[in-house]
Amino acid sequence: MLKSFGAPLEIDSFEVPDPEPGALLVKVVYGGICGTDVHLHAGHLPMPTPVILGHEAVGIVAALGREVSEDALGAPLSEGDRVTWASSIACGRCFYCRQERQPTLCQNRSVYGISRRSDAWPHLLGSWGDLQYLEAGSTVVRLPGDVSFEAAIALGCAGPTVVHGLLGIAKPGVGDTVVVQGSGPVGLAAAMCARLSGAGRIVMVGGPGGRLDLARELGVADAYVDIFDVTEPRARVAHVTDHMPGSRGAGLVVEATGVPSAVAEGLEMCRANGTYLVLGQYTDHGPTPLNPHLITRRQLRVLGSWALSGADVVDFVLSLPQLSERFDLARLVSPYPLEAMNEALDAVRAGRVTKAVLAPAP
Ligand SMILES: [Zn+2]
Ligand SMILES: [Zn+2]
Repeated sequence: MLKSFGAPLEIDSFEVPDPEPGALLVKVVYGGICGTDVHLHAGHLPMPTPVILGHEAVGIVAALGREVSEDALGAPLSEGDRVTWASSIACGRCFYCRQERQPTLCQNRSVYGISRRSDAWPHLLGSWGDLQYLEAGSTVVRLPGDVSFEAAIALGCAGPTVVHGLLGIAKPGVGDTVVVQGSGPVGLAAAMCARLSGAGRIVMVGGPGGRLDLARELGVADAYVDIFDVTEPRARVAHVTDHMPGSRGAGLVVEATGVPSAVAEGLEMCRANGTYLVLGQYTDHGPTPLNPHLITRRQLRVLGSWALSGADVVDFVLSLPQLSERFDLARLVSPYPLEAMNEALDAVRAGRVTKAVLAPAP
């Protein structure tokens, strides 16, 4: 539990809540740690305290409240079922929910592991714990039988984030050339989903070397540019265009770095009439210089994408049998016992692991 920003996380215990009608209680099998958690812990994003962190997870249904009998796809739901769930609940009433139909932009969005205090009942509103309470209105979906818990948590919130931004907003076409800036979970998920949706040549620009080696072994892209080997942005742009048909830029460039200066560089990697998707800037690191002439001259589409909806989680779960057959997702996962949460957070902060997950004692 996060009590004060920057301080080590502490373990606390609560009475197990009885699920109200429409709610359920799940036994957490893995609670994932995402790059955003590092920023949340440091107090870089607005949130209350105390909070049980953890907005990505897989688990087993432990208790069902009245009126809960089906998952989000209408499949029967019982105690013992393997499930995952969406981290957020949109209000369904605000301008963005009703008029714009964009639940990720909901003005009253409630997010497990981020916006929900743990000092009020039902307390267990984050996934870094033994149990999580899922309120009425949560999107809960059973995992397909042939998908392991490890495969389902391997990309964490990056999987549905990419479903929302890449597949839902940027919409790569069959045969499109794609550049992915970043080789963390969002970059890996973007390359994998682009591949499954029929992209042509894919180039990943990332680092450090260990991360790119893993990406290469998984086969997510056709070519890789290591930013620690090729340190000049101009040289990286030249490398990317060298890897593209006709030495043009890419039809679609996906930013998945969280580093503001990557945006100026990424725009240079787009070919004329291309699309640039800013997907990784979840923390506000302030403004960055870029050349807007490129956007006009090359007639670029520049797009943003915020967060993920319950429907994106369900769509991602539906893609998991194909995704996990094509890519060895479990290789991305580094499990830590729940008690080692501070050590695991350090490993994510230092970039030593791709997807650290906390495993409570069974
Ligand atoms: Zn996240
Ligand atoms: Zn709303």
